[in-house]
Amino acid sequence: KTAAIVGCPFSGGQPRVGVDKGPIHLIDAGLVNQLVTLGWKVNFDGHHQFEDIKAEDDPPIGILKNPRLVSRVSESVAKAVTGHVSKGHLPITLGGDHSLAMGTISGTMNIHPNACVVWVDAHADINTAESTDSGIASIKFVSAQCFSQQPGCTGNIHGMPVSFLLGIGSKFSEYAWLKPLLKAERLVYIGLRDVDAGEKRILRENNIKAFSMHEVDKYGIGKVVEMALNHVNPNRDLPIHLSFDVDALDPSVAPSTGTPVRGGLTFREGHYICEAISETGLLVALDMMEVNPALADDASVKKTVAVGCSLVRSALGETLL
Ligand code: MN
Ligand code: MN
Ligand code: MN
Repeated sequence: KTAAIVGCPFSGGQPRVGVDKGPIHLIDAGLVNQLVTLGWKVNFDGHHQFEDIKAEDDPPIGILKNPRLVSRVSESVAKAVTGHVSKGHLPITLGGDHSLAMGTISGTMNIHPNACVVWVDAHADINTAESTDSGIASIKFVSAQCFSQQPGCTGNIHGMPVSFLLGIGSKFSEYAWLKPLLKAERLVYIGLRDVDAGEKRILRENNIKAFSMHEVDKYGIGKVVEMALNHVNPNRDLPIHLSFDVDALDPSVAPSTGTPVRGGLTFREGHYICEAISETGLLVALDMMEVNPALADDASVKKTVAVGCSLVRSALGETLL
């Protein structure tokens, strides 16, 4: 068993500096050796290199911010992930912001068109150019906070990767490389609690299965993961892509992230999801996203980086006994 680490020091899908340092901290914390200790062969030869596009050469397209940069970085990540998956290696993409999932999930689905996606997040990241726009329209009456505190409501592409993967919302020629390979019925969410009004409508209209924190409270995490897999993978025979946004965890567990939301998964609930998916033996690709070591104090950063590493270990088969 071989894992390939795709470290993506990328922050162009959202406005906060620092999330590009996430992968560097995860690697510096010893992630490679931790996986070797679990019995994996680990390929990591430096962080993913991608072209930089200067802000002045990348004006918004419609409402999309940094549209060319996000597109080209994701496209190159897709190629890297496809390369690893085609060799039967397990790519572990370390973000970086969650817009990268356009690349990672495309990369997986190029090889496994029947793969399902388990998206663990406080957010649905399913805005379209239209709904992110309506987010602004409704919120600007409430406060100017949307623009400063809520980077999501203003055309930040990390709030949109899922809609691009599904092929819903308006199309952009800059994203012509991105084929809508993901079907709504092969996608399931766990951990949601900050879903924009437009996103709720999109989830409903497309019949997308989502287990919010309400369902985690109601049924417990064991039952939720079972129901989630029953939905996307009823016979437990389809490859699984797990896209884990560290902000799915409660901010007390993972404080260093750009868009923390109260009321999240506990430490154990987060790990349980990873353990249960590992137990299926069907995991073919993993994303660990949105660790931002520039946010919060040193102890909080350490804690967040450590939990990022241990979630990856759980997904790769670390057990408690
Ligand atoms: Mn999130
Ligand atoms: Mn929002
Ligand atoms: Mn996310």
